Amino acid sequence: MKYLILIPDGMADWRIERLGKKTPLEVADKPNMDFIAKEGACGKVNTIPNGFEAGSDIANLTILGVDVRRYYTGRGPIEALAKGISAELVFRCNLVKAKEIMLDYAGGRISDYEAVEVIRQLNSKKKFDFIEFYASKSYRNLLAIKKEFKEVKTFPPHDIQGKKISEYLPRNGELAKLLIELIEWSKMVLPEITNKANMIWPWGGGRMPKFPKFGDTYGLKGAMISEVDLLKGIARGLGLEFIEVEGLTGYVDTNYKGIVRHTLKNLKNFDLVIVHTEGIDEVSHEGDLEGKIEAIEIYDERIVGKILDKSDLSELRILLLPDHPTPVELRTHVAENVPFAIYGIERDEVKTFSEISCLKGKFGIIDGLKLMDCFLR
Ligand SMILES: [Zn+2]
Repeated sequence: MKYLILIPDGMADWRIERLGKKTPLEVADKPNMDFIAKEGACGKVNTIPNGFEAGSDIANLTILGVDVRRYYTGRGPIEALAKGISAELVFRCNLVKAKEIMLDYAGGRISDYEAVEVIRQLNSKKKFDFIEFYASKSYRNLLAIKKEFKEVKTFPPHDIQGKKISEYLPRNGELAKLLIELIEWSKMVLPEITNKANMIWPWGGGRMPKFPKFGDTYGLKGAMISEVDLLKGIARGLGLEFIEVEGLTGYVDTNYKGIVRHTLKNLKNFDLVIVHTEGIDEVSHEGDLEGKIEAIEIYDERIVGKILDKSDLSELRILLLPDHPTPVELRTHVAENVPFAIYGIERDEVKTFSEISCLKGKFGIIDGLKLMDCFLR
């Protein structure tokens, strides 16, 4: 038996007035996802434990059976895993625009190219040997601290847009002092380098995580395909092979053929392949309702349909679920249950795949950490 997990990021949504109180999934023409639900068994699952932010890191770790309450150390360290960086502490380090208040957490969408140069110059001007900046994508960079410190609370810059930054600076202890010193220093240095950002904002920091290896927990050799570094970090942390696919955009115009080809190929070499795609989440963040319905239909046809067509379905078990809902009306993630469907096990009465229909599935509503057992047993 081979195992396939399909994760269309942010696909779940709410009932929408303009759709006659239906959800985008209910309205979209998606015969292949409906096939998985109809021939398989369904339920709903809580992928965000209480008290955690509805992020893709939390949701995907939970789906893959990792108890984030025990193992999660922050977003910075997971992105560091993706880049092969190791240090005592790693923070996400946004390039931001701020005065008294946080004006732009995304540093004017600074280009990747310019960000690399900014990070290079920050490193050449830095005052401490034990810190190192790493360029990632655009405003999303990393700060590694190669020295022991007691950890400190920080705030994501996108959560304090328009708010007074003085109220959200780290407090108490040596690390807080260091971070504030770096922020102050960046205010002097950055204006000489770029006009997009005038300050760094470290957040989401922590020690490198020690996730349990997926293979040790479940006895399967797994691989992952994804378009984002966050998932690459998760794959590396869990000991899953990360498969590079050419031409991925993280958007609706991504290389679907490449994803399908690599999925089918790696299902031969691995017991389990996880396919995480970003496009539907992106249109949801844009608040584009028609775009979301279309993105769901494209996903259904070009990923799910093509994989079903080209697989030996008697030898394949499939788990389909979004990691979290990204309601178009809200344009951000919410910590609510998502629908899931498992093909290749005894079927239930559910005929279509949606937030509403899956509630009647045989699994009912389950905790995220139980999902792998439902899928693999
Ligand atoms: Zn998102």
